[in-house]
Amino acid sequence: MLPIHPQPRPGEILSSWMVRLAFTNGFMLHTFYDKLLGYHTPIWSRDTDRDPPLQLLTLLARHTGHSVAELQTLTLLSHQGQLFEKPVTGHWSWVRPVGVYHRERKRPGMQFCPLCLAQSPVTYYHLKWRLALYVICEHHQCMMEECCPSCHAPIAFHRHGIGRRKMVDDESLRLCSHCHFDLASMSPHHYPWPDRPSWQRLRHLIAAIEHDSWECGPRTPPCSLPFFIGVRALISVLSGRNGWQLRKHLGDALGVEIPWYPPGQHDEFEYQPPTARLILLLAIAWLLEDWPTRFLSLCTQAHFTRSRLAERVEQLPFWLASVADTHLDRRRYLPNAAETRSAGRYLQAHGLEVTPRALVNLLGLTPDCMQLVWKHWDRHNKALR
Ligand SMILES: [Zn+2]
Ligand SMILES: [Zn+2]
Repeated sequence: MLPIHPQPRPGEILSSWMVRLAFTNGFMLHTFYDKLLGYHTPIWSRDTDRDPPLQLLTLLARHTGHSVAELQTLTLLSHQGQLFEKPVTGHWSWVRPVGVYHRERKRPGMQFCPLCLAQSPVTYYHLKWRLALYVICEHHQCMMEECCPSCHAPIAFHRHGIGRRKMVDDESLRLCSHCHFDLASMSPHHYPWPDRPSWQRLRHLIAAIEHDSWECGPRTPPCSLPFFIGVRALISVLSGRNGWQLRKHLGDALGVEIPWYPPGQHDEFEYQPPTARLILLLAIAWLLEDWPTRFLSLCTQAHFTRSRLAERVEQLPFWLASVADTHLDRRRYLPNAAETRSAGRYLQAHGLEVTPRALVNLLGLTPDCMQLVWKHWDRHNKALR
């Protein structure tokens, strides 16, 4: 066991605690983990908070008296089954990518609230701050920051413990690792949003991700995962290629421009800056305030149909797919061969001539189905011969 092992602070993310662990014991990171604890595998050249090696967690557990399961709750894996299913690709829904490049971070995936940094007796970083959903601080209601305001470098507090003549002081976590600007000293930004209920809904969403079920109409699922998968699908639609009419009408209703991202590499929600994510989430929160009425009226204005919602609507969670199926389905009804056959036989039984028009009239179809029903009938007759 280590002589000093600070407890993880409430909601702390693994890497923040790991850095503090080394610093409070008076060591730089390499010396501490490689030389002292005997962990010879590189730690900082991967996203340890996303998929920590079990070997590392086991080692930390042994030296600090925490269980591996406890330490896993400090990682993004703890949101699996809550916000996302087991990720199959490198991109994780709702998780901000940090752009690992050797021991550097190329992307501002680690957000922070300057007031939380300033007010906590110990400077540390929160697990939720890595979530793309976490756009405003649940405590201070200010917008989350993602870069150092002075040099615009992404947050990479582990870099305080790498290199020569660096500070070994856990209070250094409040400084930018690149230019040493005091991140806790910056003034927070607030976003003016006129609609109180949607703002409150978003706040609640952020503060209580672990909540069991999220109200989304009569089909509310009893756990959060289908809810968040649906919300993520709505975001994709709203900010995607097919959503420009929706964006326009929704923007008009809310008096704000709904952001969108041109298709390309890294065009996903998780890569977008805080303001874009905040507006999109508030817009979704506004739609959910009166689900599905507001959404359906928006779809009517925008002539938005079921097929535009998703390539495979049946893969959407039921609360969303059922709305699409019931209200947005503009597909024509097409009869199958058996129905056409029955209609033809009915006409024959009543001494009427079977023609394409007679068939569509009997089946209540529009004239553009004549060719299809005639093909069915013709095939049926050929089979009889
Ligand atoms: Zn805060
Ligand atoms: Zn800086």
